[in-house]
Amino acid sequence: MSKRIEWVNAAGERRCAGCETYMAPELFNKGGPHAPGGLYRYCKACQARKDRAWYERNKAQAKAKAEAWRKAHPEQSRASHRVASRVWQMNRKLAREAREQREP
Ligand SMILES: [Zn+2]
Repeated sequence: MSKRIEWVNAAGERRCAGCETYMAPELFNKGGPHAPGGLYRYCKACQARKDRAWYERNKAQAKAKAEAWRKAHPEQSRASHRVASRVWQMNRKLAREAREQREP
């Protein structure tokens, strides 16, 4: 708590919260309610990496959840295609959102 992080250095470069490097503001995405100066705390490269990691995590989670459900309800296997379809739709939505964030 004693050391205050300078988000902008004397040259006007911003500090990325991810790679902790000072760089030009153009290398940061705009937006973020808590972002100092109206720019994200993560540079574009770090943000893209974070988004991709989040997507991969959620994709794996959704798949595991569907798999677990199928194993827990073998007698309802006929109904399971509905769950699979929901997971597929969710994956599509996540993929679209991740794509939109990478290419605004
Ligand atoms: Zn960064």
